[in-house]
Amino acid sequence: AKKTGKNKYLIYTIEMNESILKKKRLEREMNYALREDQFSLYYQPQIDLHTNEVVGVEALIRWSHPEWGEVSPDKFIPIAEETGLILEIDKWVLREACHQGAAWLKKGLPAVKISVNLSANQFYYNELVENVKGILEEVELPSSYLSLEMTEGTLLKDTKKTSEVLRALQNIGVQTSLDDFGTGYSSLSYLKDLPINILKLDRSFISGIKNDNKDAAIVQTILHLAKILELDVIAEGVEAEEQLKFLKQNHCLIAQGDYFSVPLTPGEMEKLLI
Ligand code: C2E
Ligand code: CA
Ligand code: CA
Ligand code: CA
Repeated sequence: AKKTGKNKYLIYTIEMNESILKKKRLEREMNYALREDQFSLYYQPQIDLHTNEVVGVEALIRWSHPEWGEVSPDKFIPIAEETGLILEIDKWVLREACHQGAAWLKKGLPAVKISVNLSANQFYYNELVENVKGILEEVELPSSYLSLEMTEGTLLKDTKKTSEVLRALQNIGVQTSLDDFGTGYSSLSYLKDLPINILKLDRSFISGIKNDNKDAAIVQTILHLAKILELDVIAEGVEAEEQLKFLKQNHCLIAQGDYFSVPLTPGEMEKLLI
C-alpha cells in the first residue's frame, strides 16, 4: 500500500509539472501573439425581436496560432487571467472593438452598441475607467455605444469597489451588462443597488427551454424580475425556432445566438449591417 501511495504521488507531481510547463508555454505564446497580431475579433449580432434589426454586437476574441490553429478563448483566457496577461489582452480588445464601432458609425452604417467582455482583473484595475475614457476619446466613439460585460463572479469579488467602478462607468455614459446571468450562486439583492443596465440570460437556460420545465420557469422568472427592476435582457445562445418563440411569448426584447448568426468577421458583419 505504501508503494502505491508513493507512485501515486510521483504521478501527481509529474502531471503537475506538465501542466505548469503547458501554462508557461501558453503564456509565452500569448505574449508573442499580442506582438505578432495573431489575435482578432469576431462580432456576433444581437437582434431586436420586435424589429428584427441588429441593435448590438458582442466582440469575441479569436486566436489563430501558426502551429496550433484556432485556440478557443475558453482555453487561453483563464490562463491569461492567472498570469495577468489578460490586462493587456483586454485592453487590446477594448481599443480594437471601439475602433471598429467608430469606423462603422463613420461609414454611416446603422448604429449598433458594441459589447466587450471584461475579466475580473480588468474590472478591478485602478485605471479601468480612465482607460475606457481615453480609448473612447481616441477613437471618437460616443460612450453610449459601449457596453461592458462582466460576470456575477467578478462583481462579487469586492462589493464595495464594484459599486464604485460601476458608478464611475455610468458617469461617463458606458452601459454595463451582467454576463452568464443566473449561473452564479449569489443573492439577487445586489441587483437593486448596483447600476447595471443589462442582464444576459445564460445559454444553459435557453437550451433547456423545450425539454426542461424548470429551465423554462427560470427564464420566465428572470424576464419578469428584469421587467420590475427595469433592466434589459439579452437571451444568449439562441439556437432554435422554438426557443425564439418562447422568448417572444415571454416579452424578451433582445436575443443573440447561432440561430440568427454565428460570430462574424468585421467584413461579414458590415455586410449584415448594410
Ligand atoms: P461568453 O462571454 O459567454 O460568450 C458567449 C460564447 O457563446 C461565445 O463563445 C460565443 O461564440 C458562444 N455562442 C454564441 N451563440 C451561441 C449558440 O447559439 N450556441 C453555442 N453553442 N454557443 C454560442 P466563445 O467566443 O468561444 O467565447 C467563450 C468565452 O470566452 C466567452 O463567453 C467569454 O467568457 C470569453 N471571451 C471571449 N472573448 C473574450 C474577450 O475578448 N475578453 C475576455 N476577457 N473574455 C473573452
Ligand atoms: Ca459575454
Ligand atoms: Ca455569456
Ligand atoms: Ca461564458
